[in-house]
Amino acid sequence: MPNDHDQDHTEPPSDIVLKVKALESLLVEKGLVNAAALDEIIETYEHKVGPRNGAHLVAKAWHDSDFKEKLLENPTEAAAALGYVGRQGEHLRVVENTPSQHNLVVCTLCSCYPWTVLGLPPAWYKSAPYRSRVVSEPRSVLREFGTELENEVVIRVWDSTSEMRYLVLPLRPAGTDGWTEAQLQQLVSRNSMIGVELAKSPAEINQTNQGIE
Ligand code: FE
Repeated sequence: MPNDHDQDHTEPPSDIVLKVKALESLLVEKGLVNAAALDEIIETYEHKVGPRNGAHLVAKAWHDSDFKEKLLENPTEAAAALGYVGRQGEHLRVVENTPSQHNLVVCTLCSCYPWTVLGLPPAWYKSAPYRSRVVSEPRSVLREFGTELENEVVIRVWDSTSEMRYLVLPLRPAGTDGWTEAQLQQLVSRNSMIGVELAKSPAEINQTNQGIE
């Protein structure tokens, strides 16, 4: 997907982006850092470290109803209690999927994203096609991610801002009664917390993970 993000991003200022790029080029040129290693670090934060924080919150909410209540009532505080603290002035809101409502998150203006619980936003999240199409044709976008919802399920799209950032609490998959929080956490993907996918089923985990103890 083309990325028009930089052209119409209103924050932060683009000279910061340029300075970072210039610094990166200089460090690579001087042999102080390796471009592939940098990509690896970004990849790690985008896919591993960041989303694990959110997966921790979701799995804990599935496992502990008191925590779920706190997470829905005051997400910023509930996340902070586990050590996931955002910048001042930004609020987290957790939107819960139910059998009748599916939640989907976008930032139509730029790329606002709950960094403290999801890490770096993926490139597609920042792309112009996602930002516009998710509002006008959410069901088609979901289908492209392999997510088919029943026609009766209402899709609600939440538009993030720099002040309010959304995290989807996916439906707990069937067949997970008695699972520990750590086991549940493996079912929570980054995309399920943006709302473009559902949480994984136990069968999907078994395929990739040789089963759960
Ligand atoms: Fe934004």
